Amino acid sequence: METKKAKKIKTERQLSSGGVVFRRRGKAVDVALISVKSGWGRGPRVWCLPKGLVEKGENIAATAHREVKEETGLDGKIIKKINNIHYFYSEKHDKKTTRYFKIVYFFLMEYTTGDTAFHDEEVEDCRWFPLDEAIKVASYEDEKEILKKAGEIIRERSK
Ligand code: ATP
Repeated sequence: METKKAKKIKTERQLSSGGVVFRRRGKAVDVALISVKSGWGRGPRVWCLPKGLVEKGENIAATAHREVKEETGLDGKIIKKINNIHYFYSEKHDKKTTRYFKIVYFFLMEYTTGDTAFHDEEVEDCRWFPLDEAIKVASYEDEKEILKKAGEIIRERSK
């Protein structure tokens, strides 16, 4: 009987870091989300939190600060770590599939300066959303949880 040779798929680890940048408007709180096209520009529009890969020798808070600035055009002061999420995804390059196990840390950041008009060119759009709306609009369940936790921290800090 002919047996098919199972293709070995390598799993690589990735570490990224990003932020929930917020601003207050009276009692209301806005947060910034970016939109990207999923699946290499072919998929539907995805609203998500700004983040990026941690570079060699960089600490995760510095990555969050740098990536938020690059992707959104906004600068902010790091308040504290919110939590981390993890997920698997696969990518095909030159007929070879690589599976990734990715961990992403998120930091709460209070907006200081900058403008969403200066978001990264690779980012489709960047907008401020009222926190409740951002929780609805965010595409990934685990990022919705990060946003809810960010809201709890912000409420706790304003007591
Ligand atoms: P980075 O912003 O860290 O440089 P990237 O833009 O290269 O990363 P990801 O955002 O990790 O890549 O997206 C890679 C794949 O993982 C995509 O298919 C995306 O839809 C999926 N993905 C992204 N975030 C999540 C998540 N929170 N939960 C599940 N899948 C996700």
